[in-house]
Amino acid sequence: MVKNYSIAIDGPSASGKSTVAKLVAKKLGFVYIDTGAMYRAFTYAVILNGLNPENEEEASSLVNKIDINFSDENKILLNGKDVSREIRDNLVANNVSFIASYKQIRLFLVDLQRKIASNKNVVMDGRDIGTYVLKDANLKIFQVASVEERSKRRYLENKEKGIDTTYDDCYKNITTRDYIDSHRAFCPLEPAKDSIEINTTEMTIDEVVDAILVEAKKKGIN
Ligand code: C5P
Repeated sequence: MVKNYSIAIDGPSASGKSTVAKLVAKKLGFVYIDTGAMYRAFTYAVILNGLNPENEEEASSLVNKIDINFSDENKILLNGKDVSREIRDNLVANNVSFIASYKQIRLFLVDLQRKIASNKNVVMDGRDIGTYVLKDANLKIFQVASVEERSKRRYLENKEKGIDTTYDDCYKNITTRDYIDSHRAFCPLEPAKDSIEINTTEMTIDEVVDAILVEAKKKGIN
């Protein structure tokens, strides 16, 4: 049987996980799976359907009724439609942590995540990949950075994408999401016991990628 490798990259919002995970996947020839985009797509579907994201029962009514997947070009698809741009809107960013705290929705998306990852070499990023989704991942990274640095990065990223936010909006959104994500009852944001922490506050993207590739090599992943 061919052995598949998996790398889990977890950490708080805007700690640079997706940028780094994408590059690590590319270097290793692995598939990259952005689980945050899946929670965002679910949130977008809730809003589109006129449901209240703060009402668990209403929001959870979409479980098993919507299709969330990735295209061959790794674009996030909601019922077959590319919603990459829409899932970055402020309305989605400000509601996604409520949606991600509902157990039924998490179980639905975790099931999809495991299916997408099965029989592949993957780099998956999120909040609970090393602790829950891929508990047996070959390498687990917990990526952190100061809240000021993360707010700055998110602000610049939004500006580049033409999304209208201020530094203060980003700071507020990130601190609120950090709190909700780490205090929810089911699968909170926390480092897996066997994860390696990387503080990226003063590191360049390339330095973080190299650090992860070194750890991967130590684990025999290449
Ligand atoms: O990674 P990103 O910031 O796009 O994730 C958006 C939100 O989705 C997070 O703030 C968190 O509430 C939720 N999320 C989660 N578990 C994951 C990935 C994301 O709860 N594995």
